[in-house]
Amino acid sequence: MRIDHRADDPAPMSYDSLTACLECGLLQRIPEVPPGGSAQCGRCGDTMHRNRPDSLNRTLALTIAGVVLFIVANSFPVLSFEMQGRETRTTLITGVVDLYQGGDWPIAAAVLFTGILAPGLQLVLLLSVLLPLTLNRMPPWLPRLFRRVRTLVPWGMLDVFMVGILVAVVKLADMAVIVPGASLFALGALIFVLAAAQAALDPDLVWSRVPIAGELSRPLRRGEDHIACDVCELVVRPSEAMRDGERLRCPRCADLLHRRKPQSLQRSWALLTAAVVCYIPANLLPIMSVTSLGSSQSDTIFSGVYYMLDQGMWPLALVIFTASIFVPILKLLILIFLLLSVQLRSDWRPRERTRLYRVVEGIGRWSMVDVYVLTILVALVRLGNIASVQAELGAIFFCAVVVLTMLAAMSFDPRLIWDALEQGHVGDRERPFGAARAGSL
Ligand SMILES: [Zn+2]
Ligand SMILES: [Zn+2]
Repeated sequence: MRIDHRADDPAPMSYDSLTACLECGLLQRIPEVPPGGSAQCGRCGDTMHRNRPDSLNRTLALTIAGVVLFIVANSFPVLSFEMQGRETRTTLITGVVDLYQGGDWPIAAAVLFTGILAPGLQLVLLLSVLLPLTLNRMPPWLPRLFRRVRTLVPWGMLDVFMVGILVAVVKLADMAVIVPGASLFALGALIFVLAAAQAALDPDLVWSRVPIAGELSRPLRRGEDHIACDVCELVVRPSEAMRDGERLRCPRCADLLHRRKPQSLQRSWALLTAAVVCYIPANLLPIMSVTSLGSSQSDTIFSGVYYMLDQGMWPLALVIFTASIFVPILKLLILIFLLLSVQLRSDWRPRERTRLYRVVEGIGRWSMVDVYVLTILVALVRLGNIASVQAELGAIFFCAVVVLTMLAAMSFDPRLIWDALEQGHVGDRERPFGAARAGSL
């Protein structure tokens, strides 16, 4: 289904129907979207709105199921490892504790945050937002909590953790008996429930329930100066924003208002440079050492992949090569290309460049697979001289590369890609309202 709204509609528009695309910044009227349908930005193609039927109730039910599964997943062993009559078990948290005790606290902190805290907090925050909303209440702290949900989503990596666990199981299958624990099944179910809750949640619906501080009665006219909130997507005139000293805050969600992400280019370059610097030791230094029957051997990322190929475990080698070698390089190259193209004010294929940015945002977290494999190996294989695995310095640098490139991608503002175009052609004054396209999913 396609609903066409004229882009240069001369009539003033009400606030409710006007939204600025978060990826290209164009102000657009969102048409009526059928249940299950979505509206795409008429310029860059980003999905601006999805109509999710019965969103609040469904998300609440899934969140409650998620909380139960989360408790189970963290209470029982994920895996147990039997070798020469001795057994070790690991829960999610003992893996983190073992890394910490081995002196690898940066990796322990990253695994604790992405594997336990971020998904757990996300569930707690969703629950405390959705419960009052379904009871038709609006406590004053609700917008602040809901803002945090968005921040946490990219850092919750249970799905990546699961792939890491599976890779570790296949790696260890030859040398020992691996028994899956109750927690592994709860974890598998939790991943699906979290993804379903994410898909059921309609943030626009939640924000539409939050009252706006002050008066926004006069509709925005074409060419009028405006700022769009990056969080709740409310479009306001600067005079209607809340003042916080020199800064402006959104009258609905109270987040700071920016026309573009602050110091986007400088921050992205700084984080990216740090990532490139860390990338070198991450690949040259060993990421782990394996002690087996008294002899010790260290592996870098490359030699680990080579070893797996040598042993005929090519599907594993492919997973680790893609996650640990191909994806980080691809991310670094795409980000450098995007930053350079913005800096040179290029007008080359803005739509494709925006799409590249989406790719970088989407694939970044998958590089953590190797870090999770290592966590599971360290936690499971600790039989002293018979068999044990330690994390090495290279793993800390590798973890830093993943986190730094994710932060660099988050600091980059894709609207800068489109700004160069507008400065070259139409001034902000004459910029028409765009028209989002509605369609079925
Ligand atoms: Zn757009
Ligand atoms: Zn806002």
